[in-house]
Order: sequence, then C-alpha cells, then structure tokens
Amino acid sequence: VKAQIKLGQIFDIEIGLHYSWFVIALLMTLSLASHFSEINPIWGTQTVWLISIVTALLFFFSIVVHELSHAAVAKSRGLPVKSITLFALGGVAQIEKEPEDARTEFWVGLIGPITSIVIGSVCLGLAWLLGSTPLSPTSSPLAAMLTWLGVINIALAVFNLLPGYPLDGGRVLRGIIWWVTRDGVKATQIVSTIGQLLAIAFIVIGVVRFFKGAGIGGLWIAFIGWFLLSAASASQTRTTIEGRLKGITVSEVMTREFPIIDSRVNLKTFVEETLLHTGHRCFIVEEQGQAVGLVTPHEVKEVAKEKWLYKTVDDVMRPLHQLQIVAPETSLIEALEKMGREDVNQLPVLRDGHLIGVITRGHILQLLQTRLELQS
Ligand SMILES: [Zn+2]
Repeated sequence: VKAQIKLGQIFDIEIGLHYSWFVIALLMTLSLASHFSEINPIWGTQTVWLISIVTALLFFFSIVVHELSHAAVAKSRGLPVKSITLFALGGVAQIEKEPEDARTEFWVGLIGPITSIVIGSVCLGLAWLLGSTPLSPTSSPLAAMLTWLGVINIALAVFNLLPGYPLDGGRVLRGIIWWVTRDGVKATQIVSTIGQLLAIAFIVIGVVRFFKGAGIGGLWIAFIGWFLLSAASASQTRTTIEGRLKGITVSEVMTREFPIIDSRVNLKTFVEETLLHTGHRCFIVEEQGQAVGLVTPHEVKEVAKEKWLYKTVDDVMRPLHQLQIVAPETSLIEALEKMGREDVNQLPVLRDGHLIGVITRGHILQLLQTRLELQS
C-alpha cells in the first residue's frame, strides 16, 4: 500500500493516506452517526454528526499511534521504517527489513496490541469517570465517544492478536516458534499457513453472513479475509524465495560485461542506434573511460522526444554517487530487498569505488527459475 496523500512526518516517519482510506472514513462516520443517534435519540442532528466525525478521526489517530508503536520498536532494534499509511483496512507501517532475530520479531508484533489495549483502557477509564460504561451508556456526547473508542481499540487489539501472519499475533507467534526451534524460515511457514487458514475462515464467514442478510458488513469481513490471504501467501512466497537464494552472493550472479555508452552521445543517437537494437535496458555511462552513472529507458522517457537531439546521456543519467549500490559480497536476498525498497530493477556493484558489475532483477529471477526447475 503506497500513500497518495502525505500528511506529514513524525520521528522521520512519513504519515500518509491511501485513496481507499476515504471510503472507510466515510462508511465509519455514517455507521457512527447511526449508532449515536440510536443510543441517544435526544441528540440533535448536528451533535450526532459532529461527534461522529470527531470519533472517526480519533479512531484513525489511534490506529496511527498503534502503527507508530510498531515503528518505534522496529527502529530501536535497528530496522528502518519509512512510512505509515492509512488505507481501507486500517494502517500499515512499512518496516523496510525483516527482523534478524526472534526477540525483535516478538516485540515488534506484541507492542501494537499492547498499545491498543492501553489506548482502549484509558478511553474506557475516562468514560467511566464521566459515568458511562459500555453496558450502561450515559447521554453525554463526550462519554459516548470515549466509550466507543475504548471498545473499538480493545476489539482491535484482540483481532490483531489472532496468531496468523500478517496480523500482529502472527508476528508474536513467529517470534516464539523461531526462538524455540531456532528456525526462522520454518516459523514463517507455520504462521503464514495459519494466516491463510484464518483468512479463508474470514472469507467464508463473511460470505455466509452476507447471504444471511448482514449486507455490507459481511462483505467487509470477506474483504479483510481476502486481503489477509494475499498478504499471507506473499510472505510464504518470499520465504520460499529466500530459502532458495540463501548463501548466494551478488558477485556470483552479477554481469561483469555490462553495455557501455559514452556520456557525450545525444539521446536520439543513443535510442536509435543502441537502445532499440541491443536489447539491453541498463547502460553504464562512461566519461573518459570512467564509469560515472547509469542510464535506462526510464530516464530517457523523462525527456520529450523532440528534445532528444539536444540532450546528451550525461544530462539524464543517474550519477553513480547518487545511486544505491551493493558490494560484491552482499547477499542476493539483501540486494533484492534493496531493489524493492528503492524501486529499481538493477544495482551497480562497486568494489573500492570501482564499478565491477551490475546486478539486475532479471538475473535473480532467472537463477530462481533454474533452481526451481532443478529443485535445488
Ligand atoms: Zn499492529
């Protein structure tokens, strides 16, 4: 899930919204409005709408706090976190690296539900001071709001503690199995399987409820199930890939013969005489025999076709010092992670500041395919 609207930064972590968030925000406000007008028929329309909107916003704020708690623990244990995105199904913190030890996995997972329980308890406590409990609500708008927030945050914690990946409970269980068996891969396989079973259960329950007349609520549960299913299977695939690439380094797979283009060539010549004829996509740009950058069709496309004659490769290339690079002894898994993080398809391989090769996604995929074919 990538954020399309950026809200700001907290502790160097970008907070953003995905467009799908607006759908859930609207649905939530509508359902809150009907909930509040039902329990307190004496309130005027204005009051109902006002507290519905405020409650919905506070709910999303508590989700951000939940995700921030994951991010804080992840960061304190050396895992970079780039952003937190709110989308239709809640929030997600983009932790850029998989934990390297069981203890980190355990705590990164557990802190989320703990945070939600704390938020929920504080809300319920305050509501109680105002004379309201979930079973005997008062007619004070503030108390009603706090009661609802208290219940929903605790429900959120319970839901998140279900022991299947990608839920927080799945991470916690993965940490425990990993710690006991000392086998991270096996732990991932187990919690991904539980995650998939849970997801299928959600889909079935949702569909059944839909046909029994629960309407959109049923579809919603099925939708959550579908999302969990795709995340759980993605994690399983990733583990399989990592298992197959384990122990291989970049230097074993990189190409040492990369196509070279002179930095002074204009784009028109580059496209017509080289790009369209060689089948290569990634070129090393050289200046007086020195590698200075990298150019792919992507950079060329940034320039309007009419201007190709007047721009040189040097004008559009990505300079070497600005590029993410890898060392020859970097593991393939790490290189793949880096490509994913930076959203690129290739990485230059440097030793002592000198370009010695290029590694591309294509290479790695080919290797994977061969390994799959030969089952090794
Ligand atoms: Zn969480």
